[in-house]
Amino acid sequence: MIALSLAEIAAIVGGQQHDIPDPGRTAGGPVVIDSREVRPGSLFAALPGDHVDGHDYAERAVAAGAAAVLATRPVGVPAIVVDDVVVALGALARAVVEKLGTTVVALTGSAGKTSTKDLMAQLLRRLGPTVWTPGSLNNEIGLPLTALSADAGTDTLVLEMGARGIGHIRYLTEITPPRVGVVLNVGTAHVGEFGGREQIAVAKGELVEALPAAEDGGIAVLNADDPLVRAMSTRTKARVVLFGESADAGVRAEKVRLTATGQPSFTLHTPTGCGDVTMRLYGEHHVSNALAAAAVAHELGMPAHEIASALSDAGQLSRWRMEVTERADGVTIVNDAYNANPESMRAALRALAAMGEAASARGGRTWAVLGPMAELGEEALAEHDAVGRLAVRLNVSKLVAVGGREAAWLRMGAYNEGSWGEESVHVSDTQAAVDLLRSELRPGDVVLVKASRSVGLERVAQQLLERE
Ligand code: ATP
Ligand code: MG
Repeated sequence: MIALSLAEIAAIVGGQQHDIPDPGRTAGGPVVIDSREVRPGSLFAALPGDHVDGHDYAERAVAAGAAAVLATRPVGVPAIVVDDVVVALGALARAVVEKLGTTVVALTGSAGKTSTKDLMAQLLRRLGPTVWTPGSLNNEIGLPLTALSADAGTDTLVLEMGARGIGHIRYLTEITPPRVGVVLNVGTAHVGEFGGREQIAVAKGELVEALPAAEDGGIAVLNADDPLVRAMSTRTKARVVLFGESADAGVRAEKVRLTATGQPSFTLHTPTGCGDVTMRLYGEHHVSNALAAAAVAHELGMPAHEIASALSDAGQLSRWRMEVTERADGVTIVNDAYNANPESMRAALRALAAMGEAASARGGRTWAVLGPMAELGEEALAEHDAVGRLAVRLNVSKLVAVGGREAAWLRMGAYNEGSWGEESVHVSDTQAAVDLLRSELRPGDVVLVKASRSVGLERVAQQLLERE
């Protein structure tokens, strides 16, 4: 965080100073919520957790060098006491971002936020110092912590914004008002909680509603191929820039294909030029993510040929997203177990199918090891059934469905689509999946591992990689 005195911080967050001998002392280290991450000068925000209360760690934080604690009650060490620590973090982040005048690029969508944010950061840092959301820290705590890590040299903040309900994105845009807002897609992620895709569109669209007007530099970057996203152009005063296949005058990809290793290759077209891209990331869904990142980079002044070369260089920043590892024995593990929803399941299966062509030339087979997709509400049965069917239509060699009744639905879909018998199995837990795969895998095989976060299917990928 930029250096601020404790008195200034107290004034910004509207807090009371307790046990502070020297209000002129500055806090300037990172703002942290885990006392183990305290550095000299840190501000330690005491949050109530599910199992532990941050207030219990206040003393430890100060002993480790924290300048003060942001807390909801006096804690016997220097503290700024507020009603709500999360709200105070937001207020502090807002004040700091305003003071720095940093350009905020915010993005949201149902699938691909983290992948796109990582791509975008790798493009924009070529234009100047850039700070971006680590991992998926996209909520009312992670967002201000990320923003507070910007300093006087930071040109651009790239922030992932997540929504689990109406009003969430609006709140985040009030903390870090974006100049550029990107909406990737409105899918079925969290549809159960929201109660329908239209409701999700209402929630995601709050991002473009918060942008400044076109004459004040506001830019809304919208996916032209997603009707619910494209329709958001009527909800913003910002200038609209479209990306996608149907973005004729915007940023689009031509000659899209997957290489034999499942990596997308295409010609990038922007309004001012074009360039050839072959990505290091896996799966066709990254074309759309790359176009979103390219559209932002183009708007911020990067020439098309440079965008194309940066996209070709960009690697994986966040783990468990189509992480491809080849074992010494020639079995390839594709760990995409970070999360899953119907859109990302389809994208990952298509990437697996593309890799399968090269695999079969080596005598290998493709395995889809899939688990439940959470939060689908009433659509759960139909969506799992459809994914099982798609696996058959894409000629995936084997389906291993892991888990409870959703896994049974996956398997039934495959069975009904292709009269699959032995090609699909249903196992109840990750250990059974590992045991089965250990005995069946042979050199040349490619194994995709994917399910919703709560399933923890990365354990399967990790165990398969441990024993080579
Ligand atoms: P979260 O809401 O969990 O933070 P996210 O929106 O940040 O998710 P990512 O972490 O980038 O999304 O990707 C989640 C999953 O969706 C991964 O399995 C990835 O392969 C897939 N995915 C990424 N981009 C897209 C896309 N444009 N369309 C569909 N699926 C995608
Ligand atoms: Mg994410």
